[in-house]
Amino acid sequence: MPPMHDALLQRSLAAVWHPCTQMKQHDSGELPLLPIARGEGPWLVGTDGQRWLDGISSWWVNLFGHCNPRINAALREQLDTLEHVLLAGCTHAPVVELSERLASRTGGELGHCFYGSDGASATEIALKMSAHYWRNLDRPAKNRYLCLAGGYHGETVGALGVTDIAIFRDAYAPLIRAATVLPSPDARQGADAAHQAAAALAEHLEAHHAETAALIVEPLVQCAAGMAMHDPEYLRLARALCDRYQVHLICDEIAVGCGRTGSFFAHQQAGIRPDFLCLSKGITGGYLPLSVVMTRDAIYQAFLDDTTARAFLHSHSYTGNPLACRAALATLDIFEQDEVLAANAVLGERIDARLRPLAGHPQVRHYRRRGMIFAFDVDADPGFGRRYYRAALERGVLMRPIGNTVYLMPPYVLGDAEIDLLAAVVDVALDEALRP
Ligand SMILES: *Cc1c(COP(=O)(O)O)cnc(C)c1O
Repeated sequence: MPPMHDALLQRSLAAVWHPCTQMKQHDSGELPLLPIARGEGPWLVGTDGQRWLDGISSWWVNLFGHCNPRINAALREQLDTLEHVLLAGCTHAPVVELSERLASRTGGELGHCFYGSDGASATEIALKMSAHYWRNLDRPAKNRYLCLAGGYHGETVGALGVTDIAIFRDAYAPLIRAATVLPSPDARQGADAAHQAAAALAEHLEAHHAETAALIVEPLVQCAAGMAMHDPEYLRLARALCDRYQVHLICDEIAVGCGRTGSFFAHQQAGIRPDFLCLSKGITGGYLPLSVVMTRDAIYQAFLDDTTARAFLHSHSYTGNPLACRAALATLDIFEQDEVLAANAVLGERIDARLRPLAGHPQVRHYRRRGMIFAFDVDADPGFGRRYYRAALERGVLMRPIGNTVYLMPPYVLGDAEIDLLAAVVDVALDEALRP
């Protein structure tokens, strides 16, 4: 390796504490650290010139490729106009336009946008708004939350309260006010999973609605659980139960929003509307940290009062940052100008046609797809995921299996050659990783 490459890795290991990582595995060389020099469309280019196809959209955020010329141009213009201003007491065109355009994508039903900087803060905003709403309505007892088994809503202490992934939560259990975990409608459990999960929700709400503020779900795909997919019927049943028992429905579309599941919002496939909608990840095309919680007018109205304490006082320093909003507007422009949802329907089918034969592999279980998310489980030992990761990297594709679930969540800009490479590497890495 060239010296610059080595030196950067060493300095990173000395000075940077990487997320979601046992650093000892990088220190020992067991897990490679990739020094990335630049990005080009769906490709990441290393400091030594090696190229990796970004099969997971850089943790599910990058929709239209790295260094997208249209998003870059919008950001350059914004940079010379207004880089930032506080959003308390001030406003600006990018945040207004973004709020209007997102609201219009909900048919105006979720017409009020509150901004944060990342997904976990969007979760916290939705949870706080829900409980505060009930408090403002003189029903302060409604302050408990419901979440689903395997659900993931971020890793700040409040968000961990509704996250059911032991490896992220257990070390902090004493700090957390845990929500009630209800059965997931994960379709791998059988054809009746959606109805069974809804029945469990009905039973819980019947007994506990008076102290329940909200149910939080990841519509259609519980991504961090290992791409657990469910029937939209669950969302219809959950919506009806939340209406019946006066409990808010929070749709966390931080991962599944922005076209990932085939519709712009995942909940649209169930024909329902949540009370709170959380977006982040893809909203800026993977450029800048931004999150938004969208809600209904009736909820917004409950905070209007002569006393400040009834207002939603939550804030982050970078709330509604103009550069981030501008990146989001450029992302929405691409959705409209390129008719991305229609194009993705075709692209998704083409990728699916290449991957689907894996369903017949003797060690593959539950090959599944929703929109631009493709996944399968592998019968293998616990070291499989690590071997798969390395095998794919060596062949030029960045993928990070979740446990023994292999998945692809690629950017929406793959050409034929790139689909060929992805499909070939998914196969070869599987065979190699299955040889312990
Ligand atoms: C990634 C994710 C979050 C957390 O977002 P961060 O920006 O990482 O804090 C929350 N919910 C879901 C469904 C996610 O996938």
